[in-house]
Order: sequence, then structure tokens, then C-alpha cells
Amino acid sequence: MAVASPLDKTDEQKAITDMVRQFADEQILPNAEHYDHEDEFPEPIVEQMRELGLFGVTIPEEYGGMGLDLTTYAMIVEELSRGWISISGIVNTHFIGSYLLMKFGSEEQRQKYLPTMATGELRAAFSLSEPELGSDVQAIKTSAKRTQDGDYEINGQKMWVTNGLMSGLVFVLVKTDPEADPRHRGMTCFIAEKAPGVAENTGEHAGFTVPPPLKKMGYKGVESTELVFDGYRCPAENILGGEDEGLNKGFAQMMDALEVGRVNVAARGVGIAQRALELGLRYSQERKAFGKPIAQHQAIQFKLADMATQVEAARLLTLRAARLKDAGERSDLEAGMAKLFASEAGRTCVEESFRIHGGYGYSKEYEIERLYRDAPLLLIGEGTSEIQRMVIGKKLLERHKL
Ligand SMILES: Cc1cc2nc3c(=O)[nH]c(=O)nc-3n(C[C@H](O)[C@H](O)[C@H](O)COP(=O)(O)OP(=O)(O)OC[C@H]3O[C@@H](n4cnc5c(N)ncnc54)[C@H](O)[C@@H]3O)c2cc1C
Repeated sequence: MAVASPLDKTDEQKAITDMVRQFADEQILPNAEHYDHEDEFPEPIVEQMRELGLFGVTIPEEYGGMGLDLTTYAMIVEELSRGWISISGIVNTHFIGSYLLMKFGSEEQRQKYLPTMATGELRAAFSLSEPELGSDVQAIKTSAKRTQDGDYEINGQKMWVTNGLMSGLVFVLVKTDPEADPRHRGMTCFIAEKAPGVAENTGEHAGFTVPPPLKKMGYKGVESTELVFDGYRCPAENILGGEDEGLNKGFAQMMDALEVGRVNVAARGVGIAQRALELGLRYSQERKAFGKPIAQHQAIQFKLADMATQVEAARLLTLRAARLKDAGERSDLEAGMAKLFASEAGRTCVEESFRIHGGYGYSKEYEIERLYRDAPLLLIGEGTSEIQRMVIGKKLLERHKL
């Protein structure tokens, strides 16, 4: 009797991941070099992703999405990231925004935003980090104050917002009660609307400015921006979940979303590690040194063996965390482990593949050079490796209390 593998896919998962892999092979991989070198937003690729429905993978069918689970989403993200992690970056903050709406949004908010989010017409960003903080989310300074006419006025500056320019919605965490103790009880998530692609917003979105994109080592094509709120008015009905339910509940909402975000970054680590392995396998069989393909030297085979083992382990941890979440079980510890291991595996496999490429790995003519610049991002986004270890340690002690 065949033993079921934890990597087995349902027929539906197989069909959709085969489709996305083909899309990555035919549309993403051949074009990534151009968009990476030019640091240009890959509009035609994004258009095709919209046609394939990839912005609505996890959005319920009643709102126009595919209604698929986190596990299937993680499988899709692996395939997109194998093509280019910037492409998965365009989808990821959108996925987190739709998760926040599905889990904490009011029915009115879901009906207002999810149908156009499912088609990718409206895309979302999410924003916690500020110039003076990233890991220490409770130190957020951007604030919102209720005005006499019942709106909230937001003032402050945000940092490192992926899709900061092209998005039409930003799920932004701000301080609403500066006296709250503990601090996390005084924070609220607003759904801040703006015009996509517009730096200086006017009219109903006045006071919301997007400065020019930050210049980065890698992760090109998808913009990372600051956001400046200067007297930006946000109606109370744009508090996630509504004012009664959502005021001062933002921290817990965002932390919940980061848990699925971590599975999602883990899947990106698997994708980039998988691609680095493929490139290493190919190059090592083509390149000859000392009269034989370098793959025939044991030192190179050992690198390939370690990389393949890391890819497999990272994939297993990622799918396990996703499956637990889908089953409604606790997955905070598992999501942290998956994120930690898979992002580190991504970086390690890319570096090993780079070494296998010798001098050519340093050339912009070879794909591994891009991966080498892209992989470190995964060590940082959705919490650094140090922060993951803190999360894992804390959860371990909670689960094994004496
Ligand atoms: C390309 C890119 C895209 C991003 N996209 C987004 C986005 O869309 N939305 C968003 O909100 N943010 C985004 N970020 C920000 C990212 O989440 C933060 O950079 C990250 O959380 C780390 O915060 P920091 O950079 O302020 O580093 P810091 O928090 O200042 O940390 C600096 C170092 O100190 C370590 N450290 C901090 N605290 C501790 C501790 N208690 N114990 C041990 N070590 C500690 C960290 O691990 C790190 O090594 C993005 C970042 C990048 C680079």
C-alpha cells in the first residue's frame, strides 16, 4: 500500500500549481532579468496574474475569489517565488490585506473591497514599520485622532511599505490611545484608501503622500516606499471591523495576520531555494574542471545534497504550518519555525549555488546573481530570524509550562 506523503497534493492543488509553474517558466523567468535590471514594475506579468485569478486565491467564492486554503496558497507562492520573489511580493501584501478583511472586517467592508481585490483591480499594502522601528511594533508613533466630525486624522511616517505606490488600499497600524498600558491596547488598524500609482494624493485622499521608491540591493520591480500622513482624514467606518469592534484592536489583528504572513514568507524561501538548487544542478553538469563535469567532484555533490535536503525540509515545515492553520489548530510556533528555517534555507541554498557557479555567479549574465541579491530580504520581512527565535522560544515555554 502506498504511504501518503505530506507533500501529496489534491487534484485541485496539482492542477493550479502546475498552471502557476508553467506561468513562471514561460512568463516570469524569461522576463525577470529585464525588470530586475531596469527596476521596472512588471505590469504585463501582473496583468496576466489578474487574468489567472491569482489575486483572489484565498478570497471566498461569494466575493469573486477562488476560496482556496492557505496550504494551496503556499504552494502557489512557492511557484511564483521560484520564478522571481518580487512577483510573489506583489501578491503577498494583498493576500495579508484580504486575510485581515476576511477575518476581522465588517460585512460592509468585505462587500466593499473584496470583489475588486479578488480581480486584482484593487490591490492592497500593509504597513507597520516606521523609520525608527520595525521589530518593536508597539513603539509605533504614527497616530490617529478623532475629529469633531467623527473622522480620524492620521499623522506620521511609515517605512518600507511593499506596494506602497501601486496599491489602492493600505492596512495601516497606528496609535489611537497614547496612554494605553500595555501599549498594544492603544493601536488601531485603518483601511487607508488612496489613488493607485499617485504620489501626491488630493481631494478626499489629501494628506497621503508616497515619496519616491527606496533604492534597494535586490527585490527590484516591486516598489518599497515610505508613506507620509499629514492631516489625512480617514472615516471612522474605515477602522478594520468598524469603530465599535475595531478601535484599539489593531495590534492583535496585525499579529494574527503576520502568522499567515510568515507561512507566506516561508513559501517564498522554499521557492528561491528550489530555484537555486535547479540552477546548481544544471550548471554543475555543464561546467567541466579537471577533466570532468564539476558535479562529479564530491565536494560539489555534497553541496547539492545539502541544498536538496534543506529544500525538502523547508517545504515540509511550511506545508505543516499551513495545514495546521487550515485545520483551525494553533500554528504560531510552527509558522515561526517554518519562516525561520525556510528563509535561512533560501539564503544558504542561494549562496551554495552561487559558489557552484564560480566566477560566473558574480556575473549579471547569470540568474544566480539576482537570487543572491534577492534572498536576504526573506531574513528580514515579517520578522527577522532573531525575532522568529524569540517567538518560537516564547511559544515553546507557553506550551511546556511546568
Ligand atoms: C524590502 C523590504 C520590504 C518590506 N516591506 C514591509 C511592508 O510591506 N510592511 C511593513 O510594515 N514593513 C516592511 N518591511 C520592514 C520589515 O518588516 C522590517 O525591516 C523588519 O521587521 C525589521 O525591522 P527594522 O528594519 O526596523 O530592524 P530593527 O527592528 O531595528 O532590528 C535591527 C536588528 O536588531 C535585531 N533585534 C531587534 N530587536 C531585537 C531583540 N529584542 N532581540 C534580539 N535582536 C533584536 C533584529 O533582528 C535586527 O537584526 C520591509 C523591509 C524591507 C527591507
